[in-house]
Amino acid sequence: MKITAGALFWGALLCGSAAESVASDKRFDSFTAYNGSDLELTVNSSGTHFAVWSPEATEAEVLLYNTDRNGKPFTTLPMTQGADKVWRASVSEQLYGKFYTFRLKVNGKWLDETPGIYAKAAGTNGQRAAIIDFSTTNPEGWEKDSNPFKGNINDAVIYEMHHRDFSIHPSSGIAHKGKFLALTEPYTTNSHGDKTGIDHLKELGVTHIHILPSYDYNSVDEANLPANEYNWGYDPWNYNVPEGSYSTDPANPATRVKEMKEMVKSLHDQGIAVIMDVVYNHTANNDNSNFSLTAPGYFYRHREDGSYSDASGCGNETASERQMMRDYIINSVKYWAKEYHIDGFRFDLMAIHDIETMNQVAAALKEIDPNIFVYGEGWTAGDSPLPVEKRALKENVSKMEGIAVFSDDIRDAVKGHYSNAQDRGFATGKPGNEETVKIGIVASTAHPQVDYSKGNNSKFAYATSPLQIINYVSCHDDLTLTDKLAKSMEGSTEAERQRAARLAQTIVFTSQGTPFMFAGEEVFRDKKGVHNSYKSPDSINAINWELKNINSDQFNYYKNLIRLRREHPAFRMTSAQDIAKHLVFDEVKADNVISYSLKDHANGDSWKEIKVIFNGNPEAVTVKIPKGQWTIVANDGMINPDGLGTSKGGQVSVAPTSALILYR
Ligand code: CA
Repeated sequence: MKITAGALFWGALLCGSAAESVASDKRFDSFTAYNGSDLELTVNSSGTHFAVWSPEATEAEVLLYNTDRNGKPFTTLPMTQGADKVWRASVSEQLYGKFYTFRLKVNGKWLDETPGIYAKAAGTNGQRAAIIDFSTTNPEGWEKDSNPFKGNINDAVIYEMHHRDFSIHPSSGIAHKGKFLALTEPYTTNSHGDKTGIDHLKELGVTHIHILPSYDYNSVDEANLPANEYNWGYDPWNYNVPEGSYSTDPANPATRVKEMKEMVKSLHDQGIAVIMDVVYNHTANNDNSNFSLTAPGYFYRHREDGSYSDASGCGNETASERQMMRDYIINSVKYWAKEYHIDGFRFDLMAIHDIETMNQVAAALKEIDPNIFVYGEGWTAGDSPLPVEKRALKENVSKMEGIAVFSDDIRDAVKGHYSNAQDRGFATGKPGNEETVKIGIVASTAHPQVDYSKGNNSKFAYATSPLQIINYVSCHDDLTLTDKLAKSMEGSTEAERQRAARLAQTIVFTSQGTPFMFAGEEVFRDKKGVHNSYKSPDSINAINWELKNINSDQFNYYKNLIRLRREHPAFRMTSAQDIAKHLVFDEVKADNVISYSLKDHANGDSWKEIKVIFNGNPEAVTVKIPKGQWTIVANDGMINPDGLGTSKGGQVSVAPTSALILYR
């Protein structure tokens, strides 16, 4: 989802925030919420039962179909409203294999058909919900399958990927290109025999993949897959159904369910956990969304004039503070965790949601599995009627224990501002970013040597714990790191840009907090300079896996960088107090140089002291470190946790645009 910087938060503060619920939304406060487990569909020994919550409807019906699209219903069932405002209808048969929609009459007008908001299976393009037997959708061994990851979020290494980017290029050697099943294929390689697919992920050493939206979204026409349309998927349609275009047969509602579960199982079997990107903050359509066709108005926020408010920049925003919407989000993530064994959730534009909802989301998930992670974008894309102090903003993360937010601080300080392609950052030689990089290094926690008043984006230590921060220098949004470096490092060589990328990621992967990387950066993938590739063709978005051979040094650097982090708990301290005590910055006179130590076996590390020095200048600098018996693990664009040589300390030279890391 497109990003907005922290500036918006401050802008909103200065402007003052609107009332919590504008007048046109007040009537929703009187609606009786209902969250019985019978909502939408139940199939049991007494038959098939439908239930839909629609307080303002005056008539309701269920339309039953033999097919997922076209044709007429074979039966239409009238529904009856109970005192709980829920409309119900039942038949005595188990209607497995059939499809259905609801139709509601509100304000004297029949609304369009909808598969309902809780549909769990659907046919092509999600137009009709499907009745399937979920007990037949589980892969072998599913009952024993579980999250392979145990630990804190900052023990994780998160790899963000789009299904199509990852496997669609011919060089992937993968059979099920662009599908869930791509992540079930072992032993795939590029033409040089370098590993691709799931084997590549294992070789790289990431602990989690974070998949871009994989629920049923609106934009790609599932009826015309040979057209090879591409979309990121930030246009939700059915929140509780997997996306059909990632399945081998969108018309068969069980296929996408089975194949997504096979994907999860296969990754779990290889020790890789799965995080899903979720977009409850807005829907693809306004009046024609499933929310609007079920209970018009209720699930959204509005302006005083009754129009849709638009904090998402996509035409609407949902109203998590309203009971049914809050419960909807909580029940939806619980469903993905339980039915699909999803191990984490990344909330798009999380600050559109209220803090209370996010805390309840995290609590509900931790109850299922304490190793499920919740993080999100702590900003909105526009103003909202929700008061600033209630928003799940980055700056409010201290009120959200167990939730992490992306650090735009480290992102923009290391590589240059996201919205100005030519702008440089610390890693590309622009002075003045040192303090903001330090904010990233200490994971936005209070530290006696970090002056937050000099921060570029945030002016105070907003995190109470390093477990609340996700560090990154690029993601699906904006220019890839490769493209950003190409646009900002005018006249540079590819080798110089690769050095800058290594330095940038070394800052991320050695910082406190949780490291996050965008798929393909380990092979220096680009997107041909396209910064908003949400619907760009494969020619822009696909990762060419021949790059793994061409840029094998880059790949090996990333692999060893990840290994360094995973083998050394000093980079993964779990409290602000530990960081303040064990992470000590050195006085450095030169611009664009940062030097610090992780001291006294920080966080139980086997190394007594780790010295980390970053030189963002295009020329070598000399830095003074204590004399002693140091072992070098990173130097001059190379890295090896097993050692690259030794140093006696004193005056040490740090090569241009590189990290020097030593221990003793
Ligand atoms: Ca779809």
